[in-house]
Amino acid sequence: MIRRLLLASLLPLLIAAAPPVTVIPASPRLAEAAAEYRQLWESDGMRIVAALEAASGLVFPTERIELIVTDGPPMTAYDGRTIRLRADYSPAYKRATLVHELGHRLALTLGRATGLDDHRLLYLFLHDAWTELYGRDFADRMVRIERRIPGPGDYDAAWSWALAMTREERQARLRALVETTAHESRGKDR
Ligand SMILES: [Zn+2]
Repeated sequence: MIRRLLLASLLPLLIAAAPPVTVIPASPRLAEAAAEYRQLWESDGMRIVAALEAASGLVFPTERIELIVTDGPPMTAYDGRTIRLRADYSPAYKRATLVHELGHRLALTLGRATGLDDHRLLYLFLHDAWTELYGRDFADRMVRIERRIPGPGDYDAAWSWALAMTREERQARLRALVETTAHESRGKDR
């Protein structure tokens, strides 16, 4: 019992493990774009995972993630197993999108009852992770691009909401969410 408790508390510190990832082109035509994402994962995957975990205080699950490269908009399935990435983005925006979608995957570990929509939740730590990985200028540039994304994601309003807070305020908000959802899941176990 004591050994199990010790292991559970030490594991996140000892193992900064990236989840296993498979990159699959949705059609043979997209093989080249898939190869770019695969190379990006191989060169930056560990750093991306570490930066997202550090900025959010959350830990990636160990289940395999399939990255499917398509012609459509990027998205992360609610079960977290599949992430769709768009083929025709610039190299910089490919990096930004990979971090964005993996951030959604990580945020799913909080469950669906956070009271925040998907992008407000993600934006509590995405700008900080982008800054850690690729610098402040990159992060600011990607925010400007995302603010212009049309559709139901409410990106512009969500970015304004998150960036009106300081990093410390965003972190406090995240810690409160982690605490609440941890209490809720302990309650459900009983
Ligand atoms: Zn998103």
